[in-house]
Order: sequence, then structure tokens, then C-alpha cells
Amino acid sequence: MNQKSEYKCKHCKHIFTSEIIFRKHSCKEMKRYNFLKTPRGIASFIVYNEWRKLQFRKTIPKNTFLISKYFDSFHRFIEFSNLKSMSNRRAYMTYMISNTIPPYFWCDNDVYMQYIKYLDTTLVIEDWISETSETIKELSNILGCPTSNIFDFLLPIDVIKLITARRVSPWILLLSKKFLDFLVHKTTREEKILFNKIIDPVKWRKNFECIIFNDKASIINEIKLLGIN
Ligand SMILES: [Zn+2]
Repeated sequence: MNQKSEYKCKHCKHIFTSEIIFRKHSCKEMKRYNFLKTPRGIASFIVYNEWRKLQFRKTIPKNTFLISKYFDSFHRFIEFSNLKSMSNRRAYMTYMISNTIPPYFWCDNDVYMQYIKYLDTTLVIEDWISETSETIKELSNILGCPTSNIFDFLLPIDVIKLITARRVSPWILLLSKKFLDFLVHKTTREEKILFNKIIDPVKWRKNFECIIFNDKASIINEIKLLGIN
């Protein structure tokens, strides 16, 4: 093997004359290649193709994704959706497509809050029950405890994060005795203030005044099934 091919970066094709510099070399292409081998990299590739499918475009292979102008946006989106505990990336992308918001902007806080607002205005109680129930079951699996003991294991900051991401809803929490006990006995004064901020008592009192009998019965039933009554 001659020196030229020996010291050539297979990612960016740059040729080096010194082995020391070659060994220290790092480039955008190499970073992308290495990221794509990680679980998050694989997830970003899958999610990118899902986004294409949602627009009736054909899926592409990994090599094409590597040089795609969307690579960094999807890398960021995977990190962002994990950070926000987003349960349904597909729903998020569908919303972005219908509002013609390109991937570059998906992780902007304003865009994310616009989506949360949209959820608040479009989802019905039945949806909130199933989302909350799925989240609690998922957490009980991860934590290795029955759903009824979930509040013995969660930290206040976790619950605040879940409510903010709309993974669990005050519609269910506020009728759960175990959640109310958690709120009274397991949170600090500062955390109580935070909870009051994200679950506005005035707004939620009004919400419950307007709730129809059947919806309330469904919530109470689900709370009993989860054992958080
Ligand atoms: Zn390189």
C-alpha cells in the first residue's frame, strides 16, 4: 500500500502526508458515520425515513442519509424528543408537515410550545386517559413496580416534566388520591409552587366544573384500574 492511500480519510477523502496528523484527524463526515452506528443515530435514520413516508416520498438508504442536508436536523430532533420525553414523534412530524414547518425548526422552543398548545385544544378526555395510562404503565415497567406504587418511585421533577410534555394529564392526576398525597407530602415548597404554575388551580377547577358525567366516570374507572385511587 502506498503512503497516499494509507493516509487517506475514507469519509472525507482527504489525503495526509503525516501519520500523526492522519490519526488525529476528525471531520464532519466521520462524526456523522460514527453517530449513525449508535442507537440514537439508528433512531434518527428511522425517523428521517418515517418523515419521508408521511409525505409519500420513497425511503432512502443510510449512505444517502449520511450526506443529506437534513442529517443534523434529525440528529438534533432525536436528542430533543428524548429530552422532552416525546411519546409520539410521528404525531409531532405530522403536525409539522401540515403546518409546513421544516425539520430545521422542529427543536425551537416556540415551535414545540405551539405543538403543545395544539394538543391542549384538540385532544379529548378519552385521549388524555389513554396517553396517561400508557405512560404510567411504561414507567411501571421501567421502574419495576406496580402502577399503583408509581408515586413512591417518581421524583417531583420527573412528574413536572411528564405533565409539561403532556405525557400525563391533570385530568387524571387531580382525581387520583395517590397523586394528591404525593403533592402534599413529597414535594418541597418550591416544587409546590412549580406544580401550581403548570397545573393552574383556577383553570382546572373550571375544567372540572364543566366535565360531563361519562368523562368523569371514565377517568375514575381508569384510576381504579391503575390502582392510583
Ligand atoms: Zn475526514
